[in-house]
Amino acid sequence: MEIETMQEDRLNDLMRHLIDQPTVTTTAANAELQEATGERELLYNFAFIDEDSKREIRRKLLKAVALPGHLVPFASRDLPIARGWGTGGLQVTMSLVEPQDILKVIDQGDDDSVNAVNLRRLVEKTTGIRFTTDTTQASLVQTRHRIPEEPMSADQILVLQVPMADPLRPVEPLVQYATEMHAESDYGRMWVYMYESVVRSGDVDISSQYPVLVEDRYIMDTSPIPRYDVPRLHQAETLYLFGAGREKRVYAVPPYTKVVPLQFEDYPFKTEHDPAQHCERCGSNDTFLTPVFVDPKDPKTEGRWMYLCSDTSFCQKRVQARSQSKSMEV
Ligand SMILES: [Zn+2]
Repeated sequence: MEIETMQEDRLNDLMRHLIDQPTVTTTAANAELQEATGERELLYNFAFIDEDSKREIRRKLLKAVALPGHLVPFASRDLPIARGWGTGGLQVTMSLVEPQDILKVIDQGDDDSVNAVNLRRLVEKTTGIRFTTDTTQASLVQTRHRIPEEPMSADQILVLQVPMADPLRPVEPLVQYATEMHAESDYGRMWVYMYESVVRSGDVDISSQYPVLVEDRYIMDTSPIPRYDVPRLHQAETLYLFGAGREKRVYAVPPYTKVVPLQFEDYPFKTEHDPAQHCERCGSNDTFLTPVFVDPKDPKTEGRWMYLCSDTSFCQKRVQARSQSKSMEV
């Protein structure tokens, strides 16, 4: 009972935060911005998008929070970035960001990949806010293809970029029919699709965008995160917001929401985690690893593949912690 009230309080706080977000008007915001970095491009509105559009996105996000896993249409705005390169996530971030926020942007767990750097640069130029690579320091994290390794807390928000919003796309390409299927919880064809995948390949053959059932109601696309990250959505402390710019949809998983991957009794959901494999930099076997090709030092020899943590800042943190504890021992 107590837990339920706690969860309700948390949701109420969240609603209040989304509703009461002050409109960032020039004078007050500018003063705070000067303090932040003073490097904002003043030709644009704060966070590029105009205030009315930002308000519309926040209203749609509120609806998404009220109906976990439900796809909410929104008027996706044009940005100086091509559709399909993270404009949905970017619009969610732009509509939420305030001058005092600290933002982290990652792509496949990496803070320094091209997509992450460019999105960060745009937010930086139009807001002047502070950035970090440390997950624990960020108030807002925008990501593509990964959920950070370090557990996020209740006062943080994770924004995910989504290429295809509707999990029913493989079984029903027409939006009007898919919408009807969601409305009626008519998910039989999705289960047949999963079953056919088992018949074809001997197991559920879905590597990313794994479908989940949210609060026993809506089937939701988890975006292209690996299966390894899917359990992190279940009963999490953090608010997850999903934005699909090209498809003009937002959806959400509020804190403490039941998120269950679709599975069969005899073919349960499995992650791709292999405890025998270690990161070659920090040595951990409890993180999501990605193969990286390393060029040889000597051009006559061949390069090789090595496994490294996909969350680069967390890997770095572990390496530092290990070298510190070693120097303490000495
Ligand atoms: Zn590592």
